[in-house]
Amino acid sequence: MQFSASAPNESKALRGDDSSVSDKISLSDVSCGITDTHCHIFRTADSRLISLYPSVFNACSLNGEMPVVRDDFLLCRDEGEVDAFTEALVKLTGNSGREVFEELERLLLRSAEASVSEIMAPAVTHFEGLRNLRLLRFFSKAHADASFPEIFCGMGVHPMYAGDFSREKLRTEYELIRRVFSESPAAPEEKSVTADGHPVKKLFVGEIGIDKRFRDTVPLDVQTEALHEQLIFAVENHLPVNIHGVGGDNEILHELKRLNRVKGIIHAFTGNYSRAEQYLRRGLKLGIGPMLLATESHKLEEAVRYAGIDNLVLETDYPYMYMNLPENSSSSAPDSDSGGEQASADDSCFSPRRRSAASPDLLIHIVERLSEIFGIGKEETAGRLHRNVEELF
Ligand SMILES: [Zn+2]
Repeated sequence: MQFSASAPNESKALRGDDSSVSDKISLSDVSCGITDTHCHIFRTADSRLISLYPSVFNACSLNGEMPVVRDDFLLCRDEGEVDAFTEALVKLTGNSGREVFEELERLLLRSAEASVSEIMAPAVTHFEGLRNLRLLRFFSKAHADASFPEIFCGMGVHPMYAGDFSREKLRTEYELIRRVFSESPAAPEEKSVTADGHPVKKLFVGEIGIDKRFRDTVPLDVQTEALHEQLIFAVENHLPVNIHGVGGDNEILHELKRLNRVKGIIHAFTGNYSRAEQYLRRGLKLGIGPMLLATESHKLEEAVRYAGIDNLVLETDYPYMYMNLPENSSSSAPDSDSGGEQASADDSCFSPRRRSAASPDLLIHIVERLSEIFGIGKEETAGRLHRNVEELF
């Protein structure tokens, strides 16, 4: 779907009550739009499916044919379960899927109105990328006229699930996704496929990485091996990566050094300037999110200044991250009870009273902050951040 700064009239009915934000905070003259490079946007549909049809999805682990509820999402463990998921979507929700997609519709509409043109949706387990692509197609069919941001699907295994990593499954999923791209020449995705069939846009490897909080259940050597294999896969297939790291910078940097040709993003970067320098030297962009707006973000601000605007990209990690909005913000972003993925990095940054779920429509606040830090206009800031994303694909 093509981006436009203001949603067409026919989409306004989808808007609901929570669209008051964007008039004040959107960028009037941004022609390129803003990219959220890390946003689990499909969690909205998952949580709705789980709550609307608990018996269907909670029971399915017993018969082994349907996706299972895992943490807060529906996990498809193989191609058959992706097929079953797609069939269940059609059967349970009819052709429109309106009640399942209400929240997703509103979020995408608010995002488009707040100048967000692209959203990168990472995967955390095998076949989540394929599943998300199928879900996206189902959703898009029912919203063919709407001007929503484009959504790019990631594939790969998060360190938390690295015990499930399999090189064969990654390869299989990639081939299945490529088949989806090539079998639908009329789909908008087609424009992102090169002559030799590589999806150059719309597809990336992530989120992958190291997370030492899970080392008791997923040993570090298992996490490291999964990261290594997935980095090799990304390089071989010319795909950018999205890397998650909690307490694992040294291991990640070591793996990046071994390969030396990785392009991508270090997600939720909160390190100091010397850590920034190490990642920049390995060719990564720094994923900057709501932590930049925290009151005690001097260390991060220093790193951001050191990196320069041309080495940064934006992200929200929706729905796992929170943000403290500026005092004068009129945002009506909904509160969420989800635990923060990175919250343990610095809990002091998340003031319980002022925190809001960091959704893509709020990225403009981070653009504003970066524009202040670098002393350049908001439009130029957004344009240069957008160019940084383009360079990855
Ligand atoms: Zn994430």
